[in-house]
Amino acid sequence: MTLPAFADGTTSRAVVDLDTVTANVRALRGHAPTAAVMAVVKADGYGHGMLPVARAALAGGATWLGVATAEEALALRAGLPDVDVPVLVWLLAPGAPFAALVAADVDVAVAAPWAVDEVAAGARAAGRPARVHVKVDTGLSRNGVTPTALGDVARRLAALEAAGDVQVVGLFSHLACADEPGHPSIDRQADAFKVATDVLHDAGLRPAVRHLANSAATLTRPDLHLDLVRPGISVYGFSPGPLLGPPGRYGLRPAMTLQARLAQVKQVPAGEGVSYGHLYTTTQDTTVGLVPLGYGDGVPRHASGGTAGPGGPVAVGTGADARVLRVAGRVCMDQLVVDLGPDAAERAGDVVTLFGGSDGLAHGGDLPNAQDWADAAGTISYEIVTRLGSRVPRVHVSEGDHA
Ligand SMILES: *Cc1c(COP(=O)(O)O)cnc(C)c1O
Repeated sequence: MTLPAFADGTTSRAVVDLDTVTANVRALRGHAPTAAVMAVVKADGYGHGMLPVARAALAGGATWLGVATAEEALALRAGLPDVDVPVLVWLLAPGAPFAALVAADVDVAVAAPWAVDEVAAGARAAGRPARVHVKVDTGLSRNGVTPTALGDVARRLAALEAAGDVQVVGLFSHLACADEPGHPSIDRQADAFKVATDVLHDAGLRPAVRHLANSAATLTRPDLHLDLVRPGISVYGFSPGPLLGPPGRYGLRPAMTLQARLAQVKQVPAGEGVSYGHLYTTTQDTTVGLVPLGYGDGVPRHASGGTAGPGGPVAVGTGADARVLRVAGRVCMDQLVVDLGPDAAERAGDVVTLFGGSDGLAHGGDLPNAQDWADAAGTISYEIVTRLGSRVPRVHVSEGDHA
């Protein structure tokens, strides 16, 4: 995929290659051939654009979509009226719009005892049974019914199922440390999940869709694929963490490329402080380039460069001349600076790349990626792409017809 020319009047963009999303989902299906694939598209598709990414994932063979919030679920249904794959939402608080969710044919998680009555009331208001997935806490101690409360929740749901208010179609849980292969908590959670399955059975419930695996477990724990896997970050082409190695090991490629045009290129003498706080000082007469992206766009301020360490990477130039530089000084709200060196050929208007993944970039194989930015900022690739602000236009490209 060759990247399109920069649109007139824009100074930054995040290009999302939808064909790469499709290919990533195909690769994930290959990793989990016996399970169905739910593409997780919460948080605006991890910053990539929920609706186009959902379509691209379906083109790759995903047969479920997953989101965190009710708003996301309803927007997904409204935005994809022609799509009838199941959609699951799992993070709801009392007062959530259960009737609207059921009416929109969204599967809802029951992750706490309070949700049993609310989902039943929502189903009655919608005039149809609610499709429920019981979310059990097997050791993450986050969202989910505790093992202690599970028996009671299961019995209440069984009564509602008998009354025709709900159908318990799924049982699921979420892993705490799947990105640390071999972590003892993974097997403990898998064991707790089996116990939870028995608790539901004892209550007379037979959930057909059991699911536990996030990206990391999809890639490393085939024994935990069960009926359905729920990959998120890997759909977008990232490894879940450094311990799993780079995404290419799994046939995955980052789908997003973040770019900007240099707003200014100018000479600065040796010994000058650069950007707020003068964290960075030029060591020679040099040229600096001004990149019109900052923390207001989601570029982490923690990836500033100076005495405490190198800043986030920025690729300038193309072809054989491509160079990867580091942020010089503070990342500001709207802008950051790179030190282009004394002999810089760059000019205002040139395109620079903060991270990328598409083949079409002329920089060759060593473009910086979101993991590099995560390393520079002390965070994870998930946060780098998901926090990208609304000020950065998303440009979706595809040679297929699912854009
Ligand atoms: C976000 C999320 C996922 C996806 O996790 P990744 O690590 O991005 O693959 C799966 N399941 C649940 C419940 C989630 O919240």
